[in-house]
Amino acid sequence: MNMLVTGGAGYIGSHAVQRLLRDGHTVVAVDNLFRGHAEAMRLLEPQSGGRLIFHESDVGDSTRMERLMHEYQVDTVMHFAALAYVGESVDQPLLYYENNVIAGIRLLEACDRAGVGRFIFSSSCATYGEPSAEHIPINEDCPQSPVSPYGQTKLDFEHALRAWGQARSRAGEPVSIAMLRYFNVAGADRSGLLGEDHEPETHLIPVAINAALGKRDGMAIFGTDYPTPDGTCVRDYVHVEDLIDAHVRVMDRVKPGEVRAYNVGIGRGYSVREVLDAVRRVTGVSFEVREQGRRAGDPAALYNDPSRIERDLGWRASVTSLDEIVDSAWQWMKRNPGGYAGSRG
Ligand code: UDP
Repeated sequence: MNMLVTGGAGYIGSHAVQRLLRDGHTVVAVDNLFRGHAEAMRLLEPQSGGRLIFHESDVGDSTRMERLMHEYQVDTVMHFAALAYVGESVDQPLLYYENNVIAGIRLLEACDRAGVGRFIFSSSCATYGEPSAEHIPINEDCPQSPVSPYGQTKLDFEHALRAWGQARSRAGEPVSIAMLRYFNVAGADRSGLLGEDHEPETHLIPVAINAALGKRDGMAIFGTDYPTPDGTCVRDYVHVEDLIDAHVRVMDRVKPGEVRAYNVGIGRGYSVREVLDAVRRVTGVSFEVREQGRRAGDPAALYNDPSRIERDLGWRASVTSLDEIVDSAWQWMKRNPGGYAGSRG
């Protein structure tokens, strides 16, 4: 197939590009490189199987997107490009609406004009906000009530996509739409080429690995008084390659006129302390951990009920061990302590 992958140079997008190339697809990757890495594209170019075309561009440039869709006869769009820091979205909400909603609408306009028939959207469990205890584990019917502008922008775009899909069906040109609501995506490709490189880095596993590498002076646990077994927050960590596999499966199954939504998470939660123990075990390094107050907006426990995706797509996480997830992140980070910038040349 001929695919357009937005945010293709980002952490999750680059893993998608890698998998789609391996599967033999033609992949037009688009990224404005605001937070993506040109180096990831350079590394993926020689990848055998499919064909990679990279364009540095905003997805909101609908004229250019339409041109690319026509030129490469794109039939499927995977839309990963987004800003994804909850805290930043609270401070700069307009930036988030601009990138995550408005640019997405421009992309849909291009899809409309180019007659793209399939659209897979990277949504988030942040669209559920802080579900009450009876909704944990979270299934797709949990009320969506985001508590951050980030989560709201993901939900707004889900709504726009649904409305677009319905309009296309009414017009007799049905499209296939899927939205995948990710839990905490972690780890790195196990062939060792790609990894997670964010600036600033705020995610628990890479922060802890950076502490183990001595790149930072220890780290903090944000909150030890949650109503969880050990007092720290519980999250569902899904390996990035399993996450991409869910995209591939839904892409193959979703039919014209359908709008499907699936949660993607392993179906069990690990506490912050359990994650830090895993990082210590895997790296063999003990680092300083300070206990601090809660971080604003962090719900106590979020983990998935994977029943629907298992039933419909036969998807089940192949990596459920925290040590394995941490180890894949560790292997890349210890070889690339300077991230992609350090691996250039
Ligand atoms: N966390 C922490 N220290 C850090 C980073 C994160 O204690 O330096 C906690 C955070 O409060 C949350 C969990 O680790 O409970 C996962 O946070 P992350 O930012 O990785 O993902 P989120 O769940 O916010 O999407």
